[in-house]
Amino acid sequence: MNDPDPFRSEVRAWLELNCPQSMRGMPRQGQSSEETVCWGGRRWVFASEDQRIWLERMAERGWTAPEWPREYAGGGLDHAQAKVLREELARVHARPPLASFGLSMLGPALLRFGSDEQKRRFLPPIVRGEIRWCQGYSEPGAGSDLASLQTRAEDRGDHYRVNGQKIWTSYADQADWIFCLVRTDPLAAKHEGIGFLLFDMESPGVSTRPITLISGSSPFCETFFDDVRVPKHQLVGEVNKGWDIAKYLLTHEREMISGLFGAGGAGQASVAEIACERIGLSHGRLADPGLRHDLARLAIDSEAFASTLERVVDEAKAGFGTGAASSLLKYQGTELNRQRHELLMAVGGAEALGWEGQRFSEGALARGWLRSKGSSIEGGTSEIQLNIIAKRLLGLPA
Ligand SMILES: Cc1cc2nc3c(=O)[nH]c(=O)nc-3n(C[C@H](O)[C@H](O)[C@H](O)COP(=O)(O)OP(=O)(O)OC[C@H]3O[C@@H](n4cnc5c(N)ncnc54)[C@H](O)[C@@H]3O)c2cc1C
Repeated sequence: MNDPDPFRSEVRAWLELNCPQSMRGMPRQGQSSEETVCWGGRRWVFASEDQRIWLERMAERGWTAPEWPREYAGGGLDHAQAKVLREELARVHARPPLASFGLSMLGPALLRFGSDEQKRRFLPPIVRGEIRWCQGYSEPGAGSDLASLQTRAEDRGDHYRVNGQKIWTSYADQADWIFCLVRTDPLAAKHEGIGFLLFDMESPGVSTRPITLISGSSPFCETFFDDVRVPKHQLVGEVNKGWDIAKYLLTHEREMISGLFGAGGAGQASVAEIACERIGLSHGRLADPGLRHDLARLAIDSEAFASTLERVVDEAKAGFGTGAASSLLKYQGTELNRQRHELLMAVGGAEALGWEGQRFSEGALARGWLRSKGSSIEGGTSEIQLNIIAKRLLGLPA
């Protein structure tokens, strides 16, 4: 009899051979995302040889970017094949080989708006995890009202001269390159006159300063540009039309955030599993009826979210999706993440409040709980997503 799904069999056999055992299954309690997932880049130090091998093997097949075209080092898979790959990776509890703003944000924008030369130059190193990107959007006076940004890119003939400041730039101090929104025409209306520039963080005039947060471990930086010279061919799309690219990229960022947080983290134990282990069972059920109810609600909402995520992605691939759906996913995904962390704190009891020391896994639970609040802000706050849902999905008056 013919194999009913030869691609699935091929993927399964390949993973069996190529996914190292240590790259499967749950991270240990207290392990940071930097230990469990590779972020790549020029300065990346692999946490283990297996982490390096796993990235190398997946990148070789283009499976770090399964649906990108082969000519840009992607996997060239169609949507159905990419889904099979995701399912098979989940089946063996494989950790993502690479997490990167290049893969989830810049790449899709370049595929749509970049020149052929830009795609050839920037996409393959993203697939291989060679260049780590950061996002230069927010400024001290431009967050929710992003189009008010003031970082100036002055036309100097063959290059732009960039001056200004960004804030909340995650991992700017570890990134190799930045995708950056700049004002190319200060006299135009605020949504016009914006450019989308790419430049090396080692360019003279770029500096970063870390921002410390209550959770103790902050990825944030302030990023300063002081007469930075950026060649003109590093502007993506048309001059003064960067806002369209910025918005398109944000829909991908929101989907990435919802996928990351809404699903509860690849390979991690569910709250219910942790609760059963810590609190114990009574007559085969979790011994705390109140918590049981809350966990059931979270499980049902998570299932509904996963189905909606699948539907929205299918619709987008079939060409009849709406960018505004990413706001719905982002809002609900980060809400679920917040609820999951509230329940983890409830299950952990007094011990969950521990902040330092091995016994408390260096405060992993409390730090995760604090971090979950940030995901309702990054990529556009929950209030802004609700505004978009009201206006663009429900058709309510502005
Ligand atoms: C974890 C994390 C990572 C981040 N990473 C990056 C990054 O890498 N690069 C980057 O550029 N930025 C990054 N940011 C910044 C983020 O994009 C901004 O914080 C966000 O867009 C909100 O802007 P703001 O902080 O200036 O708040 P503000 O815009 O000042 O908002 C303050 C409050 O007012 C509310 N509000 C504002 N306008 C409205 C409105 N019209 N209707 C209703 N309520 C409104 C907001 O919801 C919020 O509660 C990150 C933020 C976080 C938390």
